[in-house]
Amino acid sequence: MAPRITVVGSLNMDHVLRATSLPREGETVAATRFDRFPGGKGANQAVGCARLGSEVRFVGMVGQDDYGRRFREALNSEGIDTSGLLACDHPTGVGLITLDAQARSTIVVALGANLALTPAHVREHTAAIASADGLILQLEIPMDSVAEAAHIAHGAGVPVVLNAAPGSIVPDDLLDLVDVLVVNEHEAMVLLGATEDPCVDLTQLGRAHRIDLIVMTRGEHGAWISQADEAQDIPAFRVDAIDPVGAGDAFVGALTCALVRRGGLKGLTPAAARDACLWASAAGALATTIAGAIPSLPRAAAVDQLALGR
Ligand code: ADP
Repeated sequence: MAPRITVVGSLNMDHVLRATSLPREGETVAATRFDRFPGGKGANQAVGCARLGSEVRFVGMVGQDDYGRRFREALNSEGIDTSGLLACDHPTGVGLITLDAQARSTIVVALGANLALTPAHVREHTAAIASADGLILQLEIPMDSVAEAAHIAHGAGVPVVLNAAPGSIVPDDLLDLVDVLVVNEHEAMVLLGATEDPCVDLTQLGRAHRIDLIVMTRGEHGAWISQADEAQDIPAFRVDAIDPVGAGDAFVGALTCALVRRGGLKGLTPAAARDACLWASAAGALATTIAGAIPSLPRAAAVDQLALGR
């Protein structure tokens, strides 16, 4: 049976401007290309899971506007259940992404309708959360709505994967509900506050909140993970990266799919955690080889081929 994953999260229409260099303060640079893609961490991770063969339900908020309608179509066309996709009077979230020739990026988001998703809206979709094999959350919706979803899942014994992105300080009582925490290096710094060694402090955080698996993604350097007090480096796969946007989302979706497919987190060993993270690392690498977040999210066969050489 396909893993059932519920994503409670954000949707942002990404406006991607490519230029030879990123603008400095006060500078205007001419774009060499402009594209518009449905994105946002929640939508990206949901599509990532669907492409990897999971049955995905989405809970989120768009505006009653053209972008909102496009999101519904885009998620439906990926086979995602959008009965939890609500619409409100605020505009659908938008992202403005600038990319230079070396695939460096700057991103500004206006979260709009995403911020109107309340804990009460989340509670209306309790069944979709409590009956899933895994729940994925990020931080582009209100923190109390994230906490509500985590609370429902935790109470039902559903593993909670929190991608603490964009970088934020996460309340302790929310961290207590998290089973898998994924951050990139920048998000780790924000989450931990002043830290001399994020690996030491993330390990400590995991112990304090009984988090089963902590992952810090490190772009082209792969990832660092801590599980059962054992730290490991996960290598990156060599690819021709042209656009890093969406790599982290591909990683989070693939990691969740891999963990759910192995039956969740019970009895997770460092070796099994490594296998799941290697598979996720391959998904992240593939996502950098195609422009845009959603267009670049790989299918299971491509991830198998890169990760397992078949
Ligand atoms: P985010 O997009 O959240 O900043 P990262 O850039 O750390 O996340 O990427 C997530 C994962 O994707 C990394 O841990 C790595 O496995 C993979 N990845 C990202 N960039 C590259 C790259 N240039 N080459 C190979 N793998 C990459």
